[in-house]
Amino acid sequence: MEAAEVLDLFRSSRALLEGHFQLSSGRHSNQYFQCALLLAHPRHAQALAKEIAARLATRPELVIGPALGAVVWSQEVARELGLRSFFSERVDGQMSLRRGFELRPGEKLLVVEDVLTTGGSVREVIALVRQLGGQVVGVASIVNRSGRKNPFEAEGLPFTALADVEAVSWTREECPLCKSGAHGPAVKPGSRPGAAKTQV
Ligand code: ZN
Repeated sequence: MEAAEVLDLFRSSRALLEGHFQLSSGRHSNQYFQCALLLAHPRHAQALAKEIAARLATRPELVIGPALGAVVWSQEVARELGLRSFFSERVDGQMSLRRGFELRPGEKLLVVEDVLTTGGSVREVIALVRQLGGQVVGVASIVNRSGRKNPFEAEGLPFTALADVEAVSWTREECPLCKSGAHGPAVKPGSRPGAAKTQV
């Protein structure tokens, strides 16, 4: 599956939003990938998971993703690989494993994310897995917006993404959309239903 086909899936699912957005990093952007709208189509999710599974250099024993965004995605990738799927969640701001999820010593984990921007959540999951005695063998995401081919090179981990689409973003102070005021204030699409101005 080519990156262009992945982006076509986003467009046909109306999951690629255009307007004035605040990303999880706090920066503002004119584009937002609302991955939940794509993963709402199980057949699309399955096709993407199949592609990720085919590209993995090292076979993991378990798949894990940070809640909430990566819960469905982790489940789909794990299904494709015939493995279990865990998710991590924040407790008082601290990335944690709850709900009886436990790692075996040395267990090999693939960490997945739906849309990777700064990679902050994934880094927290990597640290959590290592702290709990697991072994991270790779990171995979559907979209890579980091602007780097492998944002986890420093961690010594292989990284796979189905589409590299660098985020065009600005600080609040330098944001041209804030200055023009044409799109109204920046919205966080993840937290506000129907926030997108237009969709492409
Ligand atoms: Zn702005």
